[in-house]
Amino acid sequence: MRKGKITKNNLRRFVVSKKPLAYPGTTRIMCPYCGNDEDFLELAENVTITTRYVQNEDGSFTPVADDTQVFGEIRFSCGKCGADLTKYHKHFLEMLF
Ligand SMILES: [Zn+2]
Repeated sequence: MRKGKITKNNLRRFVVSKKPLAYPGTTRIMCPYCGNDEDFLELAENVTITTRYVQNEDGSFTPVADDTQVFGEIRFSCGKCGADLTKYHKHFLEMLF
């Protein structure tokens, strides 16, 4: 008989680092054509998505990592009238949380 040894579980704490909730001089993107400022589309062309999976003992799969490569252009457009707002894409990425 083996002597039972109580091992302490290492409690892992997930620290969620949040960006400070400050929006200095935030300008909301607004479609200059229809005035929409809520609905936007990001369109990526020629996207290759590679996902790595591990097969478990019971035959099921668990995704481990995925990698998305965009070879084409990424366009940003108004979700209402479809106007091309790609010039605002950088701003969109900066405001994406
Ligand atoms: Zn629009």
